[in-house]
Amino acid sequence: MKSAAVVNFAPEKGSVEIREVPRPQIGEEDVLLQVSHVGVCGSDLHQWTADHSWPVNYPVVLGHEFGGHIVELGNQVRGWREGDRVVSETAAIINADSPLSKQGLYNLDPDRKGFGYGVNGAMTQFVRVPARCLHTVPQSLPFEHACLTEPCSVAYNAVIMNSHIRPGDRVIVLGPGTIGMLCAAMAVLCGAEVALVGLESDRERLKTALQYNCHSIIGDASEWAQEKDGLGVDCVIDAAGVSQTLKIALQLVRPNGQITKVGWGPQPLNFSLDPLVQKNIRLQGSFSHNWPIWEKVLSLMDSGRLDVQPIIGGIWRVEDWQTAFDAMHSGEVIKSILQPN
Ligand SMILES: [Zn+2]
Repeated sequence: MKSAAVVNFAPEKGSVEIREVPRPQIGEEDVLLQVSHVGVCGSDLHQWTADHSWPVNYPVVLGHEFGGHIVELGNQVRGWREGDRVVSETAAIINADSPLSKQGLYNLDPDRKGFGYGVNGAMTQFVRVPARCLHTVPQSLPFEHACLTEPCSVAYNAVIMNSHIRPGDRVIVLGPGTIGMLCAAMAVLCGAEVALVGLESDRERLKTALQYNCHSIIGDASEWAQEKDGLGVDCVIDAAGVSQTLKIALQLVRPNGQITKVGWGPQPLNFSLDPLVQKNIRLQGSFSHNWPIWEKVLSLMDSGRLDVQPIIGGIWRVEDWQTAFDAMHSGEVIKSILQPN
């Protein structure tokens, strides 16, 4: 039995197409998930347009933001049953013996390989998942929301774990994509006053910021950054997909403030980092997420304190992946979702 999958088959730009793939064989510690919904990530787009900076195991089924029902369990799997509603973390392969894994930071293990680039992902009917990656989806949480636990966990790690935001702080988020929007929502949950910054071409997407009680700014955010005491904002979250925005972050942040960089950008920087020293800034990278973060995010979504509905721009069939990818790539929607079954 074969089913349609969105496959990234080569490193050249545009090397994504629908292919028929067999139902995966599972190992003793795996489950087989029947995918309900799968989010399209900026990184899926980066692999499609070939401007990614991570190694890809071609050919690979795309998709790492997903949830579904368990339809098959390996012999060694305990604590799960057929029919369970679950979402899966992204670290499909880890070295359990590495010091980082033993610390619970398996997401930072250099041997980690994720769905959608290292192993086959979820833009198809069935996906093989190690049972350690699973989290229960609360009954009241629909899969079209639950499948976005992953990007919410990226935002939780960046804003809650890797930044130090206190009620009353002023925070600027650069880049109104999914991660930027969710980082802004997280900073609001921390009690900060938040502005989301984008370009003229982001005008439509920036309207969504209002639904998360954030200000939206097109272009130069200096005025908003300085308006309180002329010194800048407490924290800048850089969620733009280009490296040059770090320069803007260094201008907007106040002395002794913090910049958290969660957006990727393979281009080299071409400016001085001296302002980082002069202003005594903490520059923090943030990558991925781990088990406790996923549980917190599911709680936030289940209780309604974090609502992902405003960022969802549409749900498409797997066969219509290109329409879904294009809609996100053009900035027409913030998040596209595919429904394989
Ligand atoms: Zn993602």
